[in-house]
Amino acid sequence: MSAPQQSDVLIIGGGIMGCASAFFLRQRGLSVTLLETDLVGRQASGTNFGNVRRQGRPLYQLPLANRASAIWRKARELLETDVEYLQRGHMRVCYRDRPDIAAKMESYAVEAAQSDLDLEMLSGNALRDRFPFLGPEVMAASLSAQCGHANPRLAGPAFARAAQRLGAAIHENCKAVSASRDGIDFHVVTDDGRSFRAPTLLVTAGAWAKAFVEGFGETVPLTSRGPNMCVTEPLPYAIGPSIGVATPETVESVYFRQVARGNLVIGGSIQNQTFPEQYRVYVNPANSLGQWRQMQRLFPAIARVNIIRTWSGIESYLPDDQPVMGPSGSVSGLFYAFGFSGAGFQLGPGVGETMAELIATGSTDIDLSPYRIGRFAEG
Ligand SMILES: Cc1cc2nc3c(=O)[nH]c(=O)nc-3n(C[C@H](O)[C@H](O)[C@H](O)COP(=O)(O)OP(=O)(O)OC[C@H]3O[C@@H](n4cnc5c(N)ncnc54)[C@H](O)[C@@H]3O)c2cc1C
Repeated sequence: MSAPQQSDVLIIGGGIMGCASAFFLRQRGLSVTLLETDLVGRQASGTNFGNVRRQGRPLYQLPLANRASAIWRKARELLETDVEYLQRGHMRVCYRDRPDIAAKMESYAVEAAQSDLDLEMLSGNALRDRFPFLGPEVMAASLSAQCGHANPRLAGPAFARAAQRLGAAIHENCKAVSASRDGIDFHVVTDDGRSFRAPTLLVTAGAWAKAFVEGFGETVPLTSRGPNMCVTEPLPYAIGPSIGVATPETVESVYFRQVARGNLVIGGSIQNQTFPEQYRVYVNPANSLGQWRQMQRLFPAIARVNIIRTWSGIESYLPDDQPVMGPSGSVSGLFYAFGFSGAGFQLGPGVGETMAELIATGSTDIDLSPYRIGRFAEG
């Protein structure tokens, strides 16, 4: 085994959470080493739908989402590259058979305004005039002009490269196989026999985080699932916002966005089974067909368009759909940010900035209590 490499902070996992944390830690002057099994941003952070939406999040999550949103808006200057962030809005619609959801969307709009999220409620002709392609079942909509979408293939790696330019050591194809506390330092060994030490360890290993948590004597009910995605052939660019169905019925919950080159990216409905140990998730064709049927309720004209690719990704979920984010409950110097439950792409930059602030200063104004790891043991 080679001599250990020492830094202030060691990060396990190079998705958007790890890469953004590395970037902001370097901005604060801490030395950082990030270990990634594969290539940075290749798992959930690179396979996701690309929604950069604040709308629909629990109100208590909005301060974190707002922090992320401010970073997305300046991503191009900050990262010195284009991650295809388009602030073209996000719209949630509900169907005629669910007037209760329209009422919930209205009250959410009132409450969210207090957290700097402005939502415009649309129905009737106002909705049809602006979005004539919506299906006849659509009754009402809530439009957030400040939300948007970005290219997930670009964002995680952009944070990693920007962190690297600031001096972070980013090790790809480098899997952490053990992590332990050794005196004042954490000691991490990788599958190729390298050894790393740091007084602070941040676990951002997504669907693979549980083994590290358990290794340090804590428990977490982390599971994984694969949201189902597809993309169509390109069409003339016409649709600015990403649009999704607000519904408690998983099968109905489809959403789509149009990228600048014209393709429609589609997600939602029933999810796929994942095999995280093999780093694999397979698209179940029945899920894609079901998703396509639901899409035709939302956007009937799509029936004439061809799908050119389907895919899925391995996302980590927790029972309350909230992440674990903050310090370990039992080991000082150990921090977690994982379990983003299908909604972490938008949060990623804000999570990175918040974790860097927490690690560098010992505190943050973002209330992390809803995300504490101890909540599961508390019941
Ligand atoms: C198909 C899909 C669609 C989604 N759509 C959206 C959306 O539209 N909007 C939104 O906000 N969110 C969305 N999400 C959720 C979002 O993508 C995730 O919440 C977010 O990317 C999680 O980032 P992460 O860094 O925690 O995890 P990941 O990106 O999974 O990164 C974890 C990394 O840790 C690495 N790792 C694991 N074990 C080790 C080890 N032992 N040593 C070293 N490295 C290790 C992995 O290789 C991986 O790269 C979606 C997710 C999926 C899968």
